[in-house]
Amino acid sequence: MSLSLLQIAYSSLLPHIKRTPMRKNEATRILLSDETLDHEYLPITGLASFTSAAAKLILGPTSPAVQEQRTVSVQTISGTGANHLGALFLSRFYKWDGAPKIWLSNPTWANHHAIFKNVGIQPVDYPYYDPKTIGLDYDGFISALQTAPERSVFLLHACAHNPTGVDPTQEQWKSVAEVMAVKKHYAFFDSAYQGFASGGLDKDAWAVRYFVERGVALLICQSFAKNAGLYGERVGALHIVSPTREAADRVKSQLSVLQRSEISNPPTYGARLVSLILNDDVLFDEWKKDIQTMSGRIIDMRKELFRILTEELKTPGNWDHIMNQIGMFSFTGINPEQSKALVEKGHIYLTANGRISMAGLNTHNIRYFAENLDKVVR
Ligand code: PMP
Repeated sequence: MSLSLLQIAYSSLLPHIKRTPMRKNEATRILLSDETLDHEYLPITGLASFTSAAAKLILGPTSPAVQEQRTVSVQTISGTGANHLGALFLSRFYKWDGAPKIWLSNPTWANHHAIFKNVGIQPVDYPYYDPKTIGLDYDGFISALQTAPERSVFLLHACAHNPTGVDPTQEQWKSVAEVMAVKKHYAFFDSAYQGFASGGLDKDAWAVRYFVERGVALLICQSFAKNAGLYGERVGALHIVSPTREAADRVKSQLSVLQRSEISNPPTYGARLVSLILNDDVLFDEWKKDIQTMSGRIIDMRKELFRILTEELKTPGNWDHIMNQIGMFSFTGINPEQSKALVEKGHIYLTANGRISMAGLNTHNIRYFAENLDKVVR
């Protein structure tokens, strides 16, 4: 296809693209006006300008793991692909004592179970959410880390835990890292919401960076679906941190072999967009502002929901968790019958476990939601 035809084809997508956040339009415009672009394959490990910038985004621009070239970064089919490739890699190369097992928080993103089972790793639960406090079961979590056999693999949500919206505090993360280091556990970090929890990209990467500093063996699955609004473009990366550069070279070679047999090489468009944003100071600053707008709006909705429930409607029960939880999701603490009543009577759609998407609330529908929630818990 000639370049002009390519541009016509892309421009037919523009009415759709116009509805997406402003900076992506700017990056899209730059990308579409680049007459040197073609449809060639990317290298097996992806677009290097994207993967290296993505590694710095999660690990920090001055991370020793990046500077000492101990990190291998591979472009993946969004966060799901990163989870899959990370799981596949561990299934082949982790020195398992006995049958391969991964410890998953109870509850977790439902797909984690399927992803690990697919590659022959058995999921087992660790306590995470305490329905009594609608918060973190910190003691249960720590005790699972302490009692698991040495060198167990634990999946950790880097921030904005899905589905509960419950994250450890920094002090709690420090203790988790301490136990993991002592027990030589492996941290399988899933980072699908960087920026969405606090509004700050660095703040949301704090746990990952702390674990690297503390010397916990780890990998990170990174998704740009939510924070860059690129759901359908499937932009993600897997970063594996090794103790030495030589080990990292071997990891890279094995990851390339696995990636080759699965997808040959990853798709170009979304990676080019994210690479443009991450490698340009102006676009990067604008993106950070967009993220603050998105996360700030969610935080405002939390405050407003809490205010309506507690001050106006005087809804029975404690609603502090609405404010304490973080990110896109909130576990309301309502039971399956109450969730069903919201769906059937109020046409408010949520999962049976009482999880709502805070991003679905806005100034027009929040009162309707709060009033219906009030009715079903009374
Ligand atoms: N991990 C978690 C915890 C998620 O919530 C999601 C998306 N729901 C993903 C990974 C994967 O998302 P994607 O493949 O769209 O990047």
